[in-house]
Amino acid sequence: MEKTHLLILGSGPAGYTAAIYASRAGIKPILYQGIQPGGQLTITTEVENYPGYPDGVQGPQMMIDFEKQAARMGADIRYGLATKVDFSQQPYKVWIDEELEIEADAVIICTGASAKWLGIESEKRLNGFGVSACAVCDGFFFKGKEVAIVGAGDTAAEEALYLAKLCTTVHMIVRRDQMRASKIMQDRVLKTPNIKIYWNSETDEILGEQKTTGVRIVNNITQEKTEIPISGFFVAIGHEPNSGIFKDYLKMDEAGYILTKPGTTKTNVEGIFAAGDVQDKIYRQAVTAAGTGCMAALDAERYLSEKFS
Ligand code: NDP
Repeated sequence: MEKTHLLILGSGPAGYTAAIYASRAGIKPILYQGIQPGGQLTITTEVENYPGYPDGVQGPQMMIDFEKQAARMGADIRYGLATKVDFSQQPYKVWIDEELEIEADAVIICTGASAKWLGIESEKRLNGFGVSACAVCDGFFFKGKEVAIVGAGDTAAEEALYLAKLCTTVHMIVRRDQMRASKIMQDRVLKTPNIKIYWNSETDEILGEQKTTGVRIVNNITQEKTEIPISGFFVAIGHEPNSGIFKDYLKMDEAGYILTKPGTTKTNVEGIFAAGDVQDKIYRQAVTAAGTGCMAALDAERYLSEKFS
């Protein structure tokens, strides 16, 4: 068993930013990186919309930079996954890799969210080579080209509209005969001339060897298969917040996003804070995650100094 003032869980922009701020404030946090050090940015290519990188930066490199900065400030960064927690009383308990027990006076949860994928082989193979789960991150690379997007919720509608401004045609693959997206978003999609919808359709295979060159879809009523030449394939079938281990203690919405008090990173348990995509289903950007990571460190610092000094 080990004790710490502040434990940070997660190593995306929120976690590392929280670590930078808390370390500079002299708190000496321990940060556990989780199973994917660097988080979702490590599966993107170039990041062009993070301020401070005028020439853009590769997502994985950016997260190495974040980590180095947090380490330089004195954060104790470790590889390991939080597998169980007990937030019923102070000090809070967190188990890492089902073995090591850590007692913490405050915890900042930055465990992020994971994009849902279709789960087909070609999607995995071409990930980063035309296949993406983030239109805002990667849409720009397909300017003037044809792309496809799968999904029919608000995210898919929003991303299809975003892509329609950049791309010649957006082929939208919808598995039912209707969309789940809100009425207003559906109307916008339907009124956009360069979005072509394929109803009752599923992805059979994404085509291409080294890069994406097309998609083969199958109509799930007629079984008819159609090949569409495209350069980019976007998966927008939802995200899952990585919040399962906290569900017995923290208030969440119906999708599992941790609820925070508006304008703060405070959860319903005092001393437990949440930042980044695990509590944000709307913005989901590196820069907004970093911003809430900063807020969480400041909230935690205030809490620790009021309660423990
Ligand atoms: P949703 O769960 O709402 O929608 C997922 C979509 O993907 C559905 O259309 C679903 O189809 C489809 N889908 C799921 N699995 C597959 C699959 N294997 N193959 C093909 N299609 C699949 O997720 P979103 O990310 O769109 O939205 C999540 C939440 O966030 C919602 O509450 C949404 O309203 C909210 N949101 C709000 C925004 C805003 O306010 N600006 C922006 C974005 C999201 P089916 O309908 O058949 O189940």
